[in-house]
Amino acid sequence: MNRTDLKNLTMEELTAVVTGLGEKKFRAEQLFNWMHKKQARSVAEMTDLSEAFRKKLAEEFDYTVLEKVVELVSEIDGTRKYLFRLQDGNVIESVRMEYHHGLSVCISSQVGCRMGCSFCASTIGGLVRNLSAAEMLEQIYSIERLGGEKISNVVVMGSGEPLDNFDNLIRFIGLLCSEKGRNLSHRSITVSTCGLADRLKELADLDLGINPAVSLHAPNDEMRKQLMPVAKRYSIKELMEAVDYYFEKTGRRMTFEYSLIRGQNDTDACARELITLLKGRNCLVNLIPVNPVKERGYERPEGPNVQTFQKKLEKAGINVTIRREMGSDINAACGQLRRHYEEEAKG
Ligand code: SAH
Repeated sequence: MNRTDLKNLTMEELTAVVTGLGEKKFRAEQLFNWMHKKQARSVAEMTDLSEAFRKKLAEEFDYTVLEKVVELVSEIDGTRKYLFRLQDGNVIESVRMEYHHGLSVCISSQVGCRMGCSFCASTIGGLVRNLSAAEMLEQIYSIERLGGEKISNVVVMGSGEPLDNFDNLIRFIGLLCSEKGRNLSHRSITVSTCGLADRLKELADLDLGINPAVSLHAPNDEMRKQLMPVAKRYSIKELMEAVDYYFEKTGRRMTFEYSLIRGQNDTDACARELITLLKGRNCLVNLIPVNPVKERGYERPEGPNVQTFQKKLEKAGINVTIRREMGSDINAACGQLRRHYEEEAKG
């Protein structure tokens, strides 16, 4: 199974493959175009390549496509949740959301996750494996094919920790933004991390022009450690150093995600600590009323308390948004669709 996947290759790498097979260089551009612009579902579809060449490619290389297993459509706002099967049988989730400014797709970066955040369903079974660049791309391409539409934003906020799959993430972004391929702008991509501070600095050094987001969820180390094991590896101080470094290097504004959990991190004391922590930073706080996960027993604050928390931050001059809940009628918190599917499969 360790064959090279054509869809993982950059134009340069593809050119080497193509010329290595005795074909002309421009065939690589054709192939790239078929994969990333026309989003062909198989090598067989690439009809302007000779049959012999297509046969050789199909024999010697992998070509990732995903199989749709489940599609849930929200009757409220058109959100679609997908469960896709990978070629090795694992399943992953992706979500398509409609906003006034266009379509946004939330993709997974790993099968499962090893970060262990206590409120998150994706991590319950641990990490199964990293997704390849092709598997990340194909979530977007599949959704575009299924809907016959183009998406305008990509958020890497599905299952998995993208910075724990760093090389594939960078390759994925490079391919997605390639002018000769899908040609999405870097500005249209958001990558969210649970706070791998060293990796965040590496990402800053690449200065890709993407939007960074950090899952903060608590204003102090003690509370953060209870929610997120990664906080034992990096203190908030270290994390904030990485965040400031990111801004210095790239000038991109940081978004902090803060999932509000009733009676835990939604108190007045927490709001005050958060203000002290973030004041003076060019940032945005995105409040997410926690999605209850049955295995965990966390509840979201009562509606007005979310606004109260928001107002306190705003009064201190911090930019705040409340994450609009999408597809509440098909709502299954991150990773839950896959979990239910796997539980049912086990019987
Ligand atoms: N690993 C990355 C991206 C994955 S999750 C990260 O940690 O940022 C995207 C966001 O959803 C993160 O902020 C994550 O902490 C949050 N999240 C996960 N489970 C949640 C839940 N049950 N309720 C609310 N937010 C949740």
